[in-house]
Amino acid sequence: LGAGSVGALSEVWAEVQRTAGGLARIRQLLDEVPAVVAPPQPQALPARLRGAVSFRDVRFCYPSRPDQPALDGFSLDIAEGETVALVGPSGAGKSTVLQLLLRLYDPQQGELRIDGLPLVEIDPSALRQQLAVVPQHPVIFAASARDNIRYGALEADDAAVEQAARLAEAHGFLSALPEGFDTWLGERGARLSGGQQQRIAIARAVLKDAPVLLLDEATSALDAASEQSIQQALERLVQGRTTIVVAHRLATVRRADRIVVMEHGRIVAQGRHEALLAAGGLYAELARLQFVDG
Ligand code: ATP
Repeated sequence: LGAGSVGALSEVWAEVQRTAGGLARIRQLLDEVPAVVAPPQPQALPARLRGAVSFRDVRFCYPSRPDQPALDGFSLDIAEGETVALVGPSGAGKSTVLQLLLRLYDPQQGELRIDGLPLVEIDPSALRQQLAVVPQHPVIFAASARDNIRYGALEADDAAVEQAARLAEAHGFLSALPEGFDTWLGERGARLSGGQQQRIAIARAVLKDAPVLLLDEATSALDAASEQSIQQALERLVQGRTTIVVAHRLATVRRADRIVVMEHGRIVAQGRHEALLAAGGLYAELARLQFVDG
């Protein structure tokens, strides 16, 4: 992804995180004709899906590049509660996996399902209510710290917001701001470090409490204290939900139930860290070059 599209994507994800999202807004943000349509008679979803996810023989090209598949012959079954880490070189298709699950696009071939229901039969905003997203570059709004977190679940009361901040390891630094949780953030507000912004995004996801978590890990190095807080917060966040993480950190791949190694829109290997390392090949090379904390 180029810098521009990364920005657009974080915007979209922030939007998506606010439950309904709204295709019109996403279209506006992406400045692109929407590829997805809501079904006329969508399947009713339970209040909380279990979170089993499947990609079956998916082939997908972005509208602007109709001959170059970003995913090609991509099949992946993720069990309820499983944590899958996607790794691979730049352009391998990792972010595309998340975007298709968010139904920002539909594949040209193959099918995605959640709890056995084809995604195309679900209303996109109902689907997005069941997905929490922690983007690489979270959007911090010009609003109080409290309301920035509440964005994850607009009906949440102050106690729930503060509890989410605690679980996200954000309570300490927010309490220490001049006006605590009432401190204004964003434009002309208190400046947060990258690691603090990520913890705000984690707090939003804690508050949203969705069965499926999509996480695009930061590529940039963080100071050791921030790094450790984020790892602790993520460890709590992934408990009890299906998690798909575009992984850039050694700690994350070590903790994953399964690592999926991607190249050219396909899966080239999968397994646990030690086994993949021992097998050599692309994973061993990526581990050597890519993980920012290892
Ligand atoms: P990175 O680690 O660099 O983010 P990635 O593995 O997430 O890479 P994707 O972003 O999924 O890879 O990209 C897969 C392919 O699709 C790449 O060739 C990329 O250039 C292309 N691509 C991604 N987004 C778009 C877009 N909005 N329009 C056109 N092509 C895109």
